[in-house]
Amino acid sequence: MKPLVYDYLVIRFGEIAIKGKNKKAFVMKLEDDVRGKLSDFPRLYIKRHFDDIEIQLNGEDADQIIPILRKIFGIQNISSAIKVENDLDAIRSGALRVAEQEEGVKTFKIAARRKDKRFPVHGSELNQDLGAWLLKHCDRLRVDVHHPDLTLRVEVGYHETRIYGHEYKGAGGLPVGASGKVMLMLSGGIDSPVAGYLLAKRGALIEAIHFQSPPYTSDRARQKVIDLSKKLQSFGGKVRLHLVPFTNAQVAIRDAVPEDYRITIMRRLMFRIAEKAAEQNGTLAIATGESLGQVASQTLESMNTINQVTDLPVLRPLITMDKLDIAAIAKEIDTYEISIRPYEDCCTIFLPKAPRTRPDRFHADRFERSLNVEDLVNEAVRGIETLTFESSESEELFSGLL
Ligand code: ATP
Ligand code: MG
Repeated sequence: MKPLVYDYLVIRFGEIAIKGKNKKAFVMKLEDDVRGKLSDFPRLYIKRHFDDIEIQLNGEDADQIIPILRKIFGIQNISSAIKVENDLDAIRSGALRVAEQEEGVKTFKIAARRKDKRFPVHGSELNQDLGAWLLKHCDRLRVDVHHPDLTLRVEVGYHETRIYGHEYKGAGGLPVGASGKVMLMLSGGIDSPVAGYLLAKRGALIEAIHFQSPPYTSDRARQKVIDLSKKLQSFGGKVRLHLVPFTNAQVAIRDAVPEDYRITIMRRLMFRIAEKAAEQNGTLAIATGESLGQVASQTLESMNTINQVTDLPVLRPLITMDKLDIAAIAKEIDTYEISIRPYEDCCTIFLPKAPRTRPDRFHADRFERSLNVEDLVNEAVRGIETLTFESSESEELFSGLL
C-alpha cells in the first residue's frame, strides 16, 4: 500500500454557496447527509466551514469514502488535501509531497491563493516560487498552464495552509430536502423513477404515490415499486411510498366511461387522489414521468384535460426528453433492471389499445358525471397504506394508514 499522504478531504458545494441567507441551512443539511452516509467510518472528524466541509481522515481509507461522497447531491467537487503551517518552507515541501503522491501527473500548474494578507508572499509570487520548486525537485514534472494534468491548489488560510491534490467531480444539485417535498406519481415503469431522481437532485424530498389494482395487479408489481422507492432513497433523505387501492375506481370507470376516454378519466382520478395525499402530507407539487408526445395520454391535449382537476403545480422533469435518454439515466441510477420486470401495471387493465390522443375538458367533464367521483376519490384516499424507507439500508418501516 502507498504511504498515506493525504490527511483530509475537502467538500465544496458550488451552487449552494450562492444561495444568500439560506446558505447556512443548505450547508447544514448537506453536512447531515455527509455524516449520515459516512457513519460507518468512526474515525473521521467532519467539520463544517463557511465555504466547505472538511473531513479529517484519521487513517480511514479515502478510496472507500470518495465514491460515497460522489453520490451525495449538493456536492460540487471533492479534493484530497494536506495541511501545513503558514510558512514558506513548509508549503514548499508540502507541495512537493502532493506532487510526488500524484504519480500519473506529468504536467501541472500552481493555483495559489492568500486569504490571510499577513502572509508575506503574494499569490502570484507563490505560484512562481512553488512552480520553480517543483520543477527543480521532481524530474517528471513540466508546467502547462492551459491543460495541466494537475492544478495544484494552495490556500493560505488564517491558521494554516491547505494544499490540494486530485479533485473529484461530485453529483452537483442541491441537498435532498432543501427544496421541500414533492408527491411523485411512481408507476413501475422506466420513466417515473428517473423523474424522481432528477427531482431529488434538485433538492426535493420524494413522497411517492402508487396506484395498484389488486387482484388484477400482483404482489410482484407492488414489490417492484417498493424496490424502486428504495433505490430513490439511496440518493438521500427519506422516501415515503403511499399505496393507493385503485381497483374500485377502475371498475367504475370501465362500467361508465366510453373506451377512448378511460385513460383520461383514470388519470384525472389519479391526480385528484394525489392532490389529496399531497395536502395531507404537506407537499406543494405533484410530479410525473411524462414526456411530451411519448404516448397518447401525453399529448398537450391530454395534459391540458388531465391537469384541469388539480390546482397544484405538476412537475414533469422528463417533458422534453427522448425515451433513449431517459433509459440511459435509468441504467446509470440502477432503476432500469427493476423497471423492466414484466408485471402488470394498473394502467394496463381495462384500458383500450387505442386511446383518444386529443381528449378535451368538455367530454371529460361529461363522462365524469356518470361516476361518483368524490366518493371514489375519498374511498381511495382512506385506503392508502404508507411505507417509509430511510437509512442506508432502506429499512422498511410500516407507518400505518394515513
Ligand atoms: P412510466 O415509465 O413512468 O410508467 P409511461 O411511459 O408508462 O411512464 P404512462 O403510463 O402514460 O407513461 O404514465 C405517465 C405517468 O403517470 C407516469 O410517468 C407516472 O408518473 C404516472 N403513473 C402511471 N401509472 C401509475 C401508477 N400505477 N401509479 C402511479 N403513477 C402512475
Ligand atoms: Mg408506465
